[in-house]
Order: sequence, then C-alpha cells, then structure tokens
Amino acid sequence: MKSISRRALTLYLLIFVFLAGSFLSYYRLAVNADKWAMNKVNEHLYDDGAFTAGDISDRNGTVLATTENGVRTYNKDAAVRAATLQTVGDGAGFIASGIQTSFKDELTGYTIKDGVFNLKRYGKGNDISLTLDADICKAAYNAMGSYNGVVGVMNYKTGEIVCIVSTPSYDPLNKPSEEKEGMYLNKFFGGVYTPGSTFKILTLASAIENIPNLENMTFECKGHNGKGQIQIGEGYVYCSGVHGKIGIEKAFNQSCNCAFAELADTLGKEKLTATAEKAGFNIQMNKINGKISCSRSTLSLGDAKALDLGWAGIGQYTTLVSPCHMLTVISSIANGGTAVEPYVVNSITTPGGKELYTAETKTLGEYFSPTTADKLKKYMRSNVENNYGDYRFKGLEMCGKTGTAEISDSEDAKPNALFTGFSSNPDYPFAIIVVVENSTFSIQTAVPVATKVMTAVKNAYSK
Ligand SMILES: [Zn+2]
Repeated sequence: MKSISRRALTLYLLIFVFLAGSFLSYYRLAVNADKWAMNKVNEHLYDDGAFTAGDISDRNGTVLATTENGVRTYNKDAAVRAATLQTVGDGAGFIASGIQTSFKDELTGYTIKDGVFNLKRYGKGNDISLTLDADICKAAYNAMGSYNGVVGVMNYKTGEIVCIVSTPSYDPLNKPSEEKEGMYLNKFFGGVYTPGSTFKILTLASAIENIPNLENMTFECKGHNGKGQIQIGEGYVYCSGVHGKIGIEKAFNQSCNCAFAELADTLGKEKLTATAEKAGFNIQMNKINGKISCSRSTLSLGDAKALDLGWAGIGQYTTLVSPCHMLTVISSIANGGTAVEPYVVNSITTPGGKELYTAETKTLGEYFSPTTADKLKKYMRSNVENNYGDYRFKGLEMCGKTGTAEISDSEDAKPNALFTGFSSNPDYPFAIIVVVENSTFSIQTAVPVATKVMTAVKNAYSK
C-alpha cells in the first residue's frame, strides 16, 4: 500500500516536472520567438538588404519612410522629415514610440504564425498608412520655429490624428552629432505638462454641473500692488490682471484666476475630482492603435489644503496633462460630450494588396453630458469672439482656451504657453492642442502657432 502511493507520488511528480518544463519552454518561445526571428530579419533588413521593410505613408499617400536598395530612407522634404520624425520613428529604435519601432513586425512582414514566410514570398514587408497629413505637420513644425513643445490636431468625430509635431526634432537623414534633450521623445504621447488656465475648462465643467446659480454669480478680483488676488484658506491666489467684479463668462474670457480659485473652493475636492475623472483624468488611456502608450493626466487632491485646491482650480498645484489626453477631452466637448479614441495608424496592407488591419472609430464614452458640453462650447466660442479674436481663425468658428503655466517659482523662469480648442464649423471638425515651452504669454506664442496650424487644416480640407 505504502509503496504504491509512493510510486503514484513519484509519477505525479514526474508529470508535474514534465508539464512545468514544457510550459516553461512554450512560454519562453512565445516571449522570445519574436525577438529571435526579428534579430534574424534585422540582419537581412539592415545589413545585406535581402529583405525590405514596407513603406509608411501619410493619409494622402505621401511616402514618409521607405526602403531603397536595402537602405531605409525618408521623405524628400527635410521639414517633413523633421516634422514627422517622432511619429514615424527612426531606424535604430531610439524613438521608442515611433511606428518603425512599435510596428516593426508589421513593417518587416514577420508574424508569429508564418514567421518570415510573407517576407520570403514578396521580398518586402507590409505598408502602413497613417492618419497624419504631412503638409499640416510641416506647417506646425515651421510654426514652432525654434521653440520646443508639441502640436497635436485630431478629427473630433473620427479620432484620426492628422498632426503630431514634437520639438526639438532632427532630420533623420542628417542626424546632428549633438543630442538635444527630448529629441527622442514624442511629447504628444509621452509628455506631461502643467495645464495652467487650460484646466479652467474642467473647473468650469464641474461648476456647470454642480452650481445651479453659476450664471448669476459675481466674482471679485481685488487689486493689490497692481495684481488681483483672492484669499483662499491660509493664503492668496493671484491674478495676472485686476478684473474687479465680474460674472462667469467674462471671468472665463479674461481667464481670471480669482474667479476660478473661488469656484474650486466652492466645489470642493470631490466634485472637481469627479468631473476630471469622468473626463479621463487619473485613468490610463488605451494604447493608441493597441501599441503606442499615452501618458496619464493627473489631478491629485488627496493631500490638498484649501489654498492648494484654489491653485488646482486654475491648473497649477500638482496637476499634469498629457497632450494626447487633453486633445481627447477638448474633442469630446466639440463632439457633444462623447469622447472618441485617438488613432494614428489607419491601415496595414500586404505587398499583395490585402488589408491586414483597418482602424475604426471607437467611442470612449461620455466625458461630459451633452448639456455641459454645449455650455462649455458656448463659453469657449465666446473666448475667441470676445478676447483672442475671430480674425485669427477665419472661417473656422473657433472655440478655445489659452493657458500660461508657471513651471517654476524662480523669478526669471519662463512659463509654458498653451492653447487648446476646436473649429465648430462642421466642414472642419478638428481640435488642436499647442504647447510652447519656456515661452511668454500664450497669446503671443501658442495662439499664433494655433492660427498657422488651423489655417493649414482649413486649406487641406477645402481642396
Ligand atoms: Zn482676475
């Protein structure tokens, strides 16, 4: 009896060891097969040119990256190359989120099922068509001039991203010997910024939803040594102007810090957090096209004192936004409150013409109720009509909000300038975000960039 059970036990152990072993080798294969095969493919792809990676094109078929005689090359126009670099990616993989790195298997034609079968059959990998418009990206890159920062434009109805520019950039065919900080980062996906007054859109949304007499409220921005100020809790929130007694629309038009700090104080942490979280703050967005990670926007008020909450209400304190997420938020306002998922890869096609993948518009849910979205739209439209000027965005019926974010307490530190908004003309359903780093007032830098880019958008879609 005893020996039988011992034998059974030994048998069980053997079976266990066998299963564990095969599980482990299977697991290793699943994890590493890709890498093993890719190393092999890469040798051919980049060394002797026997195999070639497919093309990357923009939405109009303009080739952004291709392989000629086994060598990877890029668009003929140097400005287009630099403008699209962080999205297209480099051949060596320095730009981790670039299409050439994140879609390497698709470009080389390698699949876990067929290995390099397709590559052998066609001698070429698959082609990738992006949603980007090279002309709009070039206009955005030129508009940024020597400033560092980011520009993003997306179709708020479909989620197609038509423009991504992240600076500093470089020409992949003429790479500088000196590296600049941030040149390998696609700041549209991977960056985070203090939103400054662009966050007032969220504070306003929360106020619309939670303060019934908002439209009849009067705020006071009292002058003190030439600056407006309001006492919140133990200290003061300061305003760039002295606005006196004003209502909500004018407070939003003039971006009065006192009014919005007071609103945050009235709302409290929970309500402001609830509005922001409904709009995707503190939540990891899905990967773009299932492959490209996007930074998280954060509003963290757990330890905030009353004064901190006041500063948070005007987009300071510890609040951070991801450009890609913020553009999704703005797009949802334009789209009646419903957010759509942004995407940058439109389709992947085999050399034989078979479509392996086609992106579709996906709804992320309701970021704002339709009523709140409509009111936000009305107030953002009023900002452009009454403050920034419709002449800057002719024919676009633009809605928007600027932000000038202080990023350091140091006296000589320069702020980041932001602008985010959208065209409410249904012929041009596009939303934009612009961040100009180490800049000056947004009206002098971020708004002129937005004007140039939205004009390029209008020209591209008027054809
Ligand atoms: Zn003020």
